[in-house]
Amino acid sequence: MNRVFNFSAGPATLPTAVLERARDEMLDWNGSGMSVMEMSHRGKDYMSIAAKAEADLRELMAIPDNYKVLFLQGGASSQFAMVPINLLGDKKSADYLLTGQWSKKAIAEAKRYCDVNIVADTSDSKFTTVPAEADLKFNPDAAYVHYTPNETIVGVEFPYIPDTGDVPLVADMSSTILSRQIDVSKFGLIYAGAQKNIGPAGLTIVIVREDLIGNAKDNMPAMFDYKTHADNDSMYNTPPTYGWYLAGLVFEWLKEKGGLAAIEKINEKKAAKLYAAIEASDFYSSPIDKNCRSWMNVPFVLANAELDAKFLEEAAKKNLVTLKGHRSVGGMRASIYNAMPAEGIDVLVAFMAEFEKAHA
Ligand SMILES: *Cc1c(COP(=O)(O)O)cnc(C)c1O
Repeated sequence: MNRVFNFSAGPATLPTAVLERARDEMLDWNGSGMSVMEMSHRGKDYMSIAAKAEADLRELMAIPDNYKVLFLQGGASSQFAMVPINLLGDKKSADYLLTGQWSKKAIAEAKRYCDVNIVADTSDSKFTTVPAEADLKFNPDAAYVHYTPNETIVGVEFPYIPDTGDVPLVADMSSTILSRQIDVSKFGLIYAGAQKNIGPAGLTIVIVREDLIGNAKDNMPAMFDYKTHADNDSMYNTPPTYGWYLAGLVFEWLKEKGGLAAIEKINEKKAAKLYAAIEASDFYSSPIDKNCRSWMNVPFVLANAELDAKFLEEAAKKNLVTLKGHRSVGGMRASIYNAMPAEGIDVLVAFMAEFEKAHA
């Protein structure tokens, strides 16, 4: 067997230890004689798996008691609609920060439900920067403020959490959740598709302050109302049971590694090493402003784009795969989520130096 270093932005690499455990438990979970996939979501065994996963996530992120954790489907993209559907209440508008392709999509969806007030727009910089904190002027009458702390495609990450006063702050944390410690109490709602830093695609996690639940309009689909899921412990209908279980294994793995305080240090080091290698050479460069370079998604370009295909081909021979940048930006992108071992960065950095030597 040959496990590669998979730099995919998502679905992304998972910890080998987690996959091995899932393999060992595949046919017979804990003496139940069945796979987790085959269990009733209302049975004792599955309920214990679900409850443990939630408890571990709460512990990892220090989620306050007045927040619900929902295990949903539909991806982060469904949250682009569920957020306005549930949070607008009687208000007519919401504030959005436009800092990349994902916030752009969130905005397009929100426009179907409300007036979107664009508080910041970094498109002139081709999304290579984030707005200065002092420049953000929020509307006190907005139902909420939405932003994308880490823009997965371009690789910009906010170095600060916007202060929105009494207006609830909503964050699409799909590609940064669990990468570092955050103060959940600063947010009204956090959501994330699982396939970057949590587990397999198909599971979406929503962490929502209780007072923001129960305000959806009457004519909205029950499945799109947070209250439906909060009142039923995310079991109103059949939840994505296997994804939830696997997320639970990832949470256990994170706890064993020392939790988010420990993983944060590792992530900071991994990213610093890769950015240092890019900075140290004229052959590679990062288009992103230094103060907001993502720890999770590291885009870089070769001085000569004609070498891109060769770079990818040679990299693959070293087990370094899925380094191609997003089709909208080109170049390379190394996504280095929690599950990417430090060794993967070392092998990549060594390969980059070798490739430069051969082709500069
Ligand atoms: C991947 C991603 C999405 C889309 O997630 P889906 O689960 O495919 O809907 C949205 N926002 C961000 C920041 C992402 O990284």
